[in-house]
Amino acid sequence: MRTNLPRRGLLAAALAALVAPRPAAADGASLRADGNGVRLVLPGAATGPWRLSADARPQRLVLSLPRHGWEGPRLLSGIAPVRTLRWDPRARRLTIDLTGPVAAPGVGQEGGALVLSIRPGPAAAFARLAGPSRPIAQGQGGARPVVVLDPGHGGKDPGAIGATGTQEKRIVLAAAQEMKRRLEAGGRCRVLMTRSRDVFVPLASRVDFARRQRATLFVSIHADSAPGARGASVYTLSETASDALSAALARRENAADSAGGLNLPPVPPDVQRILLSLVRQETRQGSVRLANMTVGALRPRVPLLPNTHRQAAFAVLKSPDIPSMLVEIGFLSNRQDEAQLKQPQHRAVVATALSAAVEDYLERPGLGVASVG
Ligand SMILES: [Zn+2]
Repeated sequence: MRTNLPRRGLLAAALAALVAPRPAAADGASLRADGNGVRLVLPGAATGPWRLSADARPQRLVLSLPRHGWEGPRLLSGIAPVRTLRWDPRARRLTIDLTGPVAAPGVGQEGGALVLSIRPGPAAAFARLAGPSRPIAQGQGGARPVVVLDPGHGGKDPGAIGATGTQEKRIVLAAAQEMKRRLEAGGRCRVLMTRSRDVFVPLASRVDFARRQRATLFVSIHADSAPGARGASVYTLSETASDALSAALARRENAADSAGGLNLPPVPPDVQRILLSLVRQETRQGSVRLANMTVGALRPRVPLLPNTHRQAAFAVLKSPDIPSMLVEIGFLSNRQDEAQLKQPQHRAVVATALSAAVEDYLERPGLGVASVG
């Protein structure tokens, strides 16, 4: 699921998914019951031009998305009053077949997502909406997705300290600021930072910030200490670490404060696990895609740690609905890495590679099938 539902909505949706048949959705799109109607969320659709119109015979809504990609299944079953969703790749048009007349749909934007609220309405009113020449609503795009950059540590927590006294918190803030400048110059996203000064920010607040901002992506930047390790590496979330080094890094990072992760409702731990695995499935696919793109962008430019993409249970990666990765841009415990990371030119090279990967991801949003019950 790529919709950024508020926490309560998210958990309610996850709970509903346990007991209700899963409605189909694709390409990060999600359709869910909402009162007596449905709510259709199309991530990325509001970043380009769009036009919504209605046909009376058969009764349907037609959403033209001339610059939108759709890589999921082309025919999806709906929830009343939506019968099916059909994507026509040539016309770049989403046809929303209806089970009956509907009221004028509510149209909103959240981040780069287009959100349609569709509920039953009187036939006469629907007849007045219909007609391909009269759009119900349209937009020119320009709603850019939000990318949250998360420089690690800060304030009373310096992070790793290199042999010559280099503090991780300063290096990663400088690298994140450089990445922000590059992404903003590219103009494809809005960039927000969990901290832009030397302040302490608890891990849970970093996650909450990204969720409140309805971020499309979350990128945490570190330069930790790990004996014998050299080069950049990329981490995505897994409860089981891929190797001892990743496990140790996650343990140390998670100890930065006692909080972290999400506040789940008081249900038994096994139910919590089911809920989280449901809502995280698609996010995990997005995170892995982002990590792969990042490794590909870093490889020709900077030294890499072998097995560059690794996994561990970093608390800061635990947003269930935002693809997230943690990048170790090098290790301050390694003298060569420390010497490079102190150089603005080297940080610029790293920031360029990371920005290229983020932009690549935003250009080609998810391949995965999403679904919200
Ligand atoms: Zn760190």
